[in-house]
Amino acid sequence: MHGIGPGHANARSTIIDAIRAAGVVSRTRLVAATGLTGATVSKEVRALLDEGLVVETGNAPSTGGRSQVLLELEQSSRYAAGLHLDHDGVTAVLLDLGGAVVAEQRVRWTSEVAPQSVVDTMVVRVHAMLDGIRAPRDRLLGIGVVSPGPMTPGEGIVMSRPAMRGWVRFPLAERLRQASHLPVVVDNDATASAVGELWTGGARGSTAFAALYMATGIGSGTVVDGVPYRGASLSVGEIGHVCVELDGPECWCGNSGCIEAVAGPGAVVAEARAAGLQVRDSGLTVVEAFAEVVKLARRGDRTAKRIVQRSAEHLAVAAQTLCSLMAVDLLLLTGTGFDIAGDLYLPAVRERLARSFAAHEGPGVRVEVSRHAQRSPAVGAAALVLQESLVPRQFNTLLAIEPDTVVVPSAR
Ligand SMILES: [Zn+2]
Repeated sequence: MHGIGPGHANARSTIIDAIRAAGVVSRTRLVAATGLTGATVSKEVRALLDEGLVVETGNAPSTGGRSQVLLELEQSSRYAAGLHLDHDGVTAVLLDLGGAVVAEQRVRWTSEVAPQSVVDTMVVRVHAMLDGIRAPRDRLLGIGVVSPGPMTPGEGIVMSRPAMRGWVRFPLAERLRQASHLPVVVDNDATASAVGELWTGGARGSTAFAALYMATGIGSGTVVDGVPYRGASLSVGEIGHVCVELDGPECWCGNSGCIEAVAGPGAVVAEARAAGLQVRDSGLTVVEAFAEVVKLARRGDRTAKRIVQRSAEHLAVAAQTLCSLMAVDLLLLTGTGFDIAGDLYLPAVRERLARSFAAHEGPGVRVEVSRHAQRSPAVGAAALVLQESLVPRQFNTLLAIEPDTVVVPSAR
């Protein structure tokens, strides 16, 4: 806890994080897990009980000594709102402290909308969700908002595929904060999806895991020891833009032959249409058109099956690259793309990982489709709020200190 690297900001956040990770836990096990003293654990737990964040939930079976009172987070004590802004609408969810989705709303638009009016709609929807479950407004910790592509708190969406260019540099976080008077956090959809697994129990038992995200685009998020890996630049996790064909098709990112351009949902749809398959080309989003190709494959259409299989084999390369670089023990396939076709992609991913370098020396990587694949960015956005407000981390800043300029007195 005191070495170089991210540590919890204080004893309180260490304890909340340990209870979250365990689900249900005794004070004795908290002492063992956190390295804090028994007195500190007792004092902090008492404060959390007083605030209503934690509840006592029965006893552990006695093992000779005194039986142990068990603790867990009080689900309905706090809520976080998560918003997933995409090119054709917003998905909004309310997550409770136990990681359950207790409300969900979707807003769709068919023509371009002004960002400010979307902000106003978002705030109305957040309040409507809270009112819908009869929760007092002061139980809402904040709003998380995510979008495809890199985002910063100050600048909003920094870079985007063509469909969302109207949002680039719109100060989304600031405007949402002004309209809601709540704390607002932002991140990209793939990183948020990974953080969501942390709070909804999808990554329980893992020390390092990754989310491979496929919707219109392809990305990834990695969480190590409970901390999302953010790197030093906004392009972290852009596994969809790893080149797999040097002379491949041009990608919107400026390169060519990227996995996304070669085998993402858009490429699957284009290939299906070029092969003469009947996929409607008006009024469908890329993901909806992808779902039509997958449907044809499930019905046994051989061309559709071949196209989906080829895509799966490329996504398996993305998965293997990610797992090898980050040495994760768990890979979760998530996003609407895997919600639609996860079972068709899973065998190719598992097979490639079973043959990979990492599989030769240990238990290998567990691969699952996320339980929240369809709405993982919104769930993740809400989880970011829980993360930032309840278990803030303190990063070691010593390594980033610039050396002072040495002024040499001029010789006379
Ligand atoms: Zn690219």
